[in-house]
Amino acid sequence: MTCTIHDLFETQCRDKGSKILFERPGLSSMTFSEAWDRVLRFASLLEESGVRPGDRVAVQVDKSAEAVLLYLACLRVGAVFLPLNTAYTGAEIDYFLGDAEPRLFVCTPATLQTHAARASETLAVESLGAAGDGTLMDRAAGADQHDSAVPCKADDPAAILYTSGTTGRSKGAVLTQGNLASNAKALNDIWHFTQDDKLIHALPIFHTHGLFVACNMALTSGATMLFLTRFDAEEIIDEMADATVLMGVPTFYTRLLKSPRLDPLTTASMRLFVSGSAPLPEEVHARFAECTGHTILERYGMTETCMIASNPYEGERRVGAVGFPLPQVQVRITDREGGNTLPRGQTGAIEVAGPNVFQGYWRMPEKTAAEFRDDGYFITGDLGRIDADGYLHIVGRDKDLVITGGYNVYPKEIETLIDALPEVAESAVIGVPHPDFGEGVTAVVVPQPGASLDKERLLAALSGTLARYKQPKQMIVVNELPRNVMGKVQKNDLRKRFADLYAPSETAT
Ligand code: ATP
Ligand code: MG
Repeated sequence: MTCTIHDLFETQCRDKGSKILFERPGLSSMTFSEAWDRVLRFASLLEESGVRPGDRVAVQVDKSAEAVLLYLACLRVGAVFLPLNTAYTGAEIDYFLGDAEPRLFVCTPATLQTHAARASETLAVESLGAAGDGTLMDRAAGADQHDSAVPCKADDPAAILYTSGTTGRSKGAVLTQGNLASNAKALNDIWHFTQDDKLIHALPIFHTHGLFVACNMALTSGATMLFLTRFDAEEIIDEMADATVLMGVPTFYTRLLKSPRLDPLTTASMRLFVSGSAPLPEEVHARFAECTGHTILERYGMTETCMIASNPYEGERRVGAVGFPLPQVQVRITDREGGNTLPRGQTGAIEVAGPNVFQGYWRMPEKTAAEFRDDGYFITGDLGRIDADGYLHIVGRDKDLVITGGYNVYPKEIETLIDALPEVAESAVIGVPHPDFGEGVTAVVVPQPGASLDKERLLAALSGTLARYKQPKQMIVVNELPRNVMGKVQKNDLRKRFADLYAPSETAT
């Protein structure tokens, strides 16, 4: 019998009963036993709506404890949970509903108005809503408790999660019951999660980081979650008074550092600060340690694989590295084309195998086949190296690699040098079409507030440290870099914006 997130959660509910699971500012807290009762009633409602094992349930609702309980109810009835980014609008939702063909679409009351018309014999549309309005939440109060969980196997699909779309159209990653449970167990183990923890959860829950890393850990360890619908640095600093863990993205740390209240006293009860989803700038890492005495633990994961690697909980957390593979996870670096494993220290394609690796892309058999090796390793699309001590370093994405005059240029190497210049806040290095070199190395730079950038001087500063082919051909100053909600820099947007930078008519002048 497979042990699933649902089963691990059920055990916690039986053991922890009156302990708080969700703390929700402005709303009443919810205990494990109240949460369990709600899961059972949601499960009955799902079956009443015609949801059967293997059916997809698409959910696009604002962040709430109930949305997480709906996810657990899906696991209980063997349905496949499919969370959708709340930023998606009409045409995008239609695309995802058409692609995933869910049996049920659960949405906000506002979306219900526009999507109720889409309901058909094969698609039910419901609003999660609020108590007292005839919606799922309202009906759950009067629904029966579901009697027994649908048995499942480790390789049964549990969720489809669409990737962030940083490098192109989002792809649906099919994650199994075994993927989710093994990852939660490994994380609880390496980060020592227990019922004494209070996790500050300010991430969205339609993404792997917020749902399958943060929530799953708390649901299966008995920890309490402080469930916040947005990130507000001052509020988080207040809440740290009796919390223990913050799961964050790099922008959380950048914003916390802007508060004069961040210091060793305000963070005294915290035992762990985690950063993932995007590279943590070295400077943020250093300033946070200086300010609080805490070393941020950087980790690495992706939609397709849940978590892959983590810096050690005990032991050296290395700046610029994402640490070691999780228990049972294997990571290797290859030369991509040939699939040959490269020696330590060399940069190549990061490939991953283990119980965390997804089943494949939803209805994309060719893409799935292209991204898996015959021996089961998944080609992540990220580039990296493993240093002499075994720490994994992410060097960037293979789609962001700049090929100029036949040379490979890794943007991160140049970004690190530019970011270290005192007048620079941050930078993104991209390749854009160039008539002579194929791609021209181009630096997009955000100055420190109030600083004026002398582009010629900065380019000259780089010329002393970088080989000629790596030196940016142009430096563009912008007020901010385009980022998505997880703090990922949208290099595709930058490449589009500056696509004509070296167009012949302009370079000729
Ligand atoms: P898409 O696959 O649709 O282009 P995406 O790759 O951004 O979007 P996610 O699965 O949300 O979608 O993000 C995973 C990616 O985020 C990883 O492949 C990696 O490039 C990046 N990432 C995650 N953690 C880190 C980290 N600690 N350092 C650097 N990059 C990271
Ligand atoms: Mg990706």
